[in-house]
Amino acid sequence: MRVESYTIEVELEAEKGFADITAQVQEIVTKSGMKRGIAVVFNVGSTGAVTTMEYEPGLKKDIPRALERIAPRSESYEHHLTWGDDNGSAHVKAALLGPSLAVPFTDGRLTLGTWQQIVVINFDTRARRRRVVVQLLGE
Ligand code: ZN
Repeated sequence: MRVESYTIEVELEAEKGFADITAQVQEIVTKSGMKRGIAVVFNVGSTGAVTTMEYEPGLKKDIPRALERIAPRSESYEHHLTWGDDNGSAHVKAALLGPSLAVPFTDGRLTLGTWQQIVVINFDTRARRRRVVVQLLGE
């Protein structure tokens, strides 16, 4: 078994910046020459998340809207008292979706559904350059 690490960087807008990184992750798998294994896709930082979704304009509104109901931006957060930060809502949303994803690949192809893309979401209250580590474990 081999282990290889790569990094993807994406510029994301504040609060609900989305990026579809499916093609980049597939390119990494292809470049590695590995035929089967797992691609772990991990967002570095606690106000961003990695998940899968059908990447279309409606869901890009629905997902933040649903999370906004659970952790509204306008509410007060203990986190703000800890650091004088304003992004308690962003931390909660990111923690709910989680920072990483493990995607199996076989025959050198990610085993994603046709309407299933790998996305990075920035929930922070400012625009962020997000670093996503892609670690391949396979052969
Ligand atoms: Zn914070």
